Amino acid sequence: MQSFDLIVIGSGSGLDVSSEAADRGLSVAVVEHGPFGGTCLNRGCIPSKMLIHSADVMETIRRAELFGITAQVSAVDWDAIVKRVISIIDDDVQDIEEGNRQQPNITVFKGTGRFVGHKVLEVGNERIAAETIVIAAGTRPRILDIDGLSDVPFITSDEALRLPKQPRRLVIVGGGYIAAELAHFFGALGTEVIIVHRGPRLLRLEDDDVSARFTEVYQRRFAVLLNSVVRRAYRDGEEIELEVASDGQKRTLRADALLLAVGRVPNTDLLDVTQTGVAVDERGFIKVDEHLETDVPGVWALGDIVGRYLLKHSANLEADHVAHNIFNPENRVPVDYHAMPHAIFASPQVASVGLTEQQAREEGLPYVASTYRYYDTVYGLSIEDRDGFVKAVAHRETGEILGCHIIGSEASILIQEVANAVRMRLTTDAITQSIYVHPALPEVVQRAFGSLPIWADDDSE
Ligand SMILES: Cc1cc2nc3c(=O)[nH]c(=O)nc-3n(C[C@H](O)[C@H](O)[C@H](O)COP(=O)(O)OP(=O)(O)OC[C@H]3O[C@@H](n4cnc5c(N)ncnc54)[C@H](O)[C@@H]3O)c2cc1C
Repeated sequence: MQSFDLIVIGSGSGLDVSSEAADRGLSVAVVEHGPFGGTCLNRGCIPSKMLIHSADVMETIRRAELFGITAQVSAVDWDAIVKRVISIIDDDVQDIEEGNRQQPNITVFKGTGRFVGHKVLEVGNERIAAETIVIAAGTRPRILDIDGLSDVPFITSDEALRLPKQPRRLVIVGGGYIAAELAHFFGALGTEVIIVHRGPRLLRLEDDDVSARFTEVYQRRFAVLLNSVVRRAYRDGEEIELEVASDGQKRTLRADALLLAVGRVPNTDLLDVTQTGVAVDERGFIKVDEHLETDVPGVWALGDIVGRYLLKHSANLEADHVAHNIFNPENRVPVDYHAMPHAIFASPQVASVGLTEQQAREEGLPYVASTYRYYDTVYGLSIEDRDGFVKAVAHRETGEILGCHIIGSEASILIQEVANAVRMRLTTDAITQSIYVHPALPEVVQRAFGSLPIWADDDSE
């Protein structure tokens, strides 16, 4: 058995900790069974956003006639779209693995790690141990228990971002952000997309108004079957046939590809974390304290596998804290998740930070909320965004910004200024009293906050 000062399991966000430890002269083992760089680089944020840019370009061309330009797409070179992304990513993956192998204090173990005892891990035929272990092993796509599924060549987001051939007709099961982004990607490039979602609305975790508008827009773009579940899957030659219970009725769908985008499950089972005494919650995510230490002193966890926010910027924040807390035991810092923003790179884009109106209501906060349409600003009008709006939520008495929810063009960019203000716990003055470039798109954010009836009680006196 080999002993190290530190073992890091997972080469995604975990690498932030292993590289700092190696730079400090500690002996480090990095355990990874897939390509280096983790989900974000190989199967997540980066390939999906690069591919979606091709879809966005296509959409711009399709909308060109709204602006008096006649344009036609003569071909979609699927191979070129996918290869552009794969070649950039694969080069990066190789560089990262190479960099780790060349660092004298790091030993790379390529294989699936599994705990076999207290702070002891088995990787292939080898056993390794360390007093300090960081579990950063992430999640994988959830697979539904559908009758007949094992006989059908279904895909998940893992494969969808590297498909060698564009599907002609694709059924996407799911209604969350991955389903929404991939529907946009495939749909904009010409695949006929059918979404099957068990709930009454897409993006159910968003503010109700945003989720309702998004569902409305997607119902215009795609066939969207709500309140629907797939009961059975069959293979029929090159095609897949699905039996779907949709709003109480039985329907049959045919497609040449089936994509499951129904959430993620933690990799704690593969790792057998309980063998080292680490506790998991009822969904299998690792339980950690506010410093990200598990129930076992010296064993830490971060990123998707702790199940707080399944977002890369959250994993990065956590990795910074784990590194700090391991190397500064006298001065541990708890993670402050306040104002964790997120964005969905569908079309329309969606972005959000802070409390939704429903959450503010459920928490019993005295709040005010207001929405402002893109189309009522000069820039929104000039880009013909008729669906977009910004919803502002603030504390009625203190004026503190509680949340902001955006659907529409460049939502992922617009949210950032509000995320910064919420992080600093600023009031709406930070936005309403600032000077905005006219007539740029951020005016819609300012107008949304400016339209809040913050001082409604005072006015009525
Ligand atoms: C399609 C898609 C799009 C996304 N888009 C965004 C986005 O736009 N913005 C955003 O913020 N987030 C996005 N995410 C989420 C983001 O990718 C994750 O939150 C982030 O990558 C999690 O990082 P991590 O370090 O916790 O885990 P990971 O990056 O998943 O790293 C875990 C690593 O551990 C390895 N591993 C697992 N088990 C073992 C084992 N037993 N032994 C050895 N190695 C093991 C895995 O191979 C993996 O490399 C997206 C995810 C998906 C799937």
